[in-house]
Amino acid sequence: MLSAQEIANYQAKENSLKDRIILVTGAGDGIGKAAALAYAKAGAIIILAGRTVEKLEQIYDQIIADGGLEPLIYPVDFEGATEDDFNQLAHQCDQQFGRLDGLLLNAGILGQRTPLSSYRHDVWTKVLQVNVTAQHLLTKALMPILEASDNASVIFTTSGVGRVGRAFWGAYAVSKFAVEGMAQTWAAEVEGLNSVRINCINPGATSTQMRATAFPAENPESIASPEDIMSAYLYLMGSDSAGINGQSIDAQKK
Ligand code: NAP
Repeated sequence: MLSAQEIANYQAKENSLKDRIILVTGAGDGIGKAAALAYAKAGAIIILAGRTVEKLEQIYDQIIADGGLEPLIYPVDFEGATEDDFNQLAHQCDQQFGRLDGLLLNAGILGQRTPLSSYRHDVWTKVLQVNVTAQHLLTKALMPILEASDNASVIFTTSGVGRVGRAFWGAYAVSKFAVEGMAQTWAAEVEGLNSVRINCINPGATSTQMRATAFPAENPESIASPEDIMSAYLYLMGSDSAGINGQSIDAQKK
């Protein structure tokens, strides 16, 4: 595996994801948008999953304008989606492509920045639903078509506060610890299968709507943009990271 420095500086070869079928959640904004565009530019067919259709349509148009392969839009709200909804999504992908080569589980919500002792129960439930339970249900539904790929890459999205507890990050931090645990557990279960590998990315401080909500006083230009951190996303999705399983990598070197 490459070092953190090498991952941050990684340059994907042209067409490194040619004709790969990749589903990106939260593809309409922030890091998910940048990843969808980067993967499309590398030759992949992108399934744009997210909750705000207008945003997904803009990404669709941008991919076409950039000369990429025609993407698909799949509207899904992780807060309300049921297991049946995820199975339906998987069924449609199966009907259309018969396999899935990549899954970037990027969508997430922040919740409250308050002490756990005063954290609202309804917010807690929502954060755990969107950031953990929906990630499990979606990945579970897609696993048969991921296993139909020759080398599928599943990438969960973690955070620094999902590795070391920090005050006032509440359900968000707990959800990211859970994501790290889920990815490790699942990676151990698929270890030895050549068809699927499962890893985590920690984007690090990145200027998005979520970051601005968490740090309202921060100058967004003082931190990385979503485009700045795409090396790690391309590396972990592509064949140069084949065989890497059960790792949690940082998109930005410390
Ligand atoms: P963002 O700009 O807020 O984007 C989040 C994306 O998730 C949006 O596309 C949003 O859709 C989607 N989403 C939210 N709730 C959803 C739901 N219920 N159903 C479906 N989609 C939903 O955040 P970001 O900073 O790019 O974050 C992306 C990932 O990186 C998250 O998992 C986050 O925890 C993680 N992360 C970010 C940072 C950072 O500094 N930015 C650091 C560490 C980890 P809409 O556009 O429709 O709202």
